[in-house]
Amino acid sequence: MTDDTTLTVAVLGTGIMGAPMARNLAKAGFDVRVWNRTSDKAEPLAADGAIVCASPREAADGADVVITMLADDDAVASVVDGDDGAFSAGGSPIWLQMSTVGVEGTERLSSLAADRGIRYLDAPVLGTKQPAEDGALTVLASGDDDVRDVVQPVFDAIGSRTTWLGKTGQATRLKLALNSWVLALTSATAEALALADGLGVDPKLFLDTIEGGPLDVKYAHVKGGAMLRGEFPTAFPVDGAAKDARLIVEAASAAGVQARVADAVATHMQNAADAGHGRDDMAAVWDVVRRP
Ligand code: NAP
Repeated sequence: MTDDTTLTVAVLGTGIMGAPMARNLAKAGFDVRVWNRTSDKAEPLAADGAIVCASPREAADGADVVITMLADDDAVASVVDGDDGAFSAGGSPIWLQMSTVGVEGTERLSSLAADRGIRYLDAPVLGTKQPAEDGALTVLASGDDDVRDVVQPVFDAIGSRTTWLGKTGQATRLKLALNSWVLALTSATAEALALADGLGVDPKLFLDTIEGGPLDVKYAHVKGGAMLRGEFPTAFPVDGAAKDARLIVEAASAAGVQARVADAVATHMQNAADAGHGRDDMAAVWDVVRRP
């Protein structure tokens, strides 16, 4: 049962992240509309109470809030703009841009919004498939503070924590710094395990030895365990990791930071994508680290 105060939220992009986010919004009682370029990824959400729409325009028509959770800034721009795009629906929704699009991508998309009088929040998320399913993402939010009270319940349905960061673009900047750590950690885990293996030491001993000590980090066991099992069920796809690595290298260069580790990570992730692992989890970087 809904009433006049129930917000209508359009979720554009129901991939690994967008689908569970939409499901949690429906569970929290929002009126949810979903659209995805490949419609069979959106259709199962009907069982969760979401209305599956045929175009971004149909999803955004009359929506209070539009969420974009798409691959990159080109995908986002193509979905909001154009004849069937979300902006063509008219109205003045609040746009929560939650995809990872980098510094220039954020400037591009926030300008698009400003040109059309749409309120824009830069709101990337920290966390991957499982936290998205659990409604336990960390939302990094920056931009128009006036809409904070309206959108906080939306963020609360998706995440367990929201960090507000001031002016538009600050959230994306922090997201890039966080992802530089996550991607480097994954690559460093692959290299440490491969080095142990290459030197004739059981690589599992690396994970066993750091466990519980000051060098330990849970992520090394999650990704390192997947590497040693040779199983890469996708949480954070290699294609997305390669894209994020490029955004990090670009941002570091513009900021005058010597990001040589990020450069190497970008090469590893691109090599993994070129080796056919694009849709596998980024733990598959193990395969190219072992066989360059
Ligand atoms: P995903 O499963 O690959 O989903 C990508 C989405 O973008 C799909 O809906 C895809 O549609 C759509 N798309 C791609 N190109 C398009 C285009 N040209 N036009 C329209 N739609 C297009 O990836 P994801 O992991 O959910 O990532 C979504 C965003 O969240 C990315 O920006 C990613 O960096 C970010 N993110 C991901 C994670 C993670 O761990 N996975 C964590 C935090 C943030 P189709 O289904 O038709 O291909």
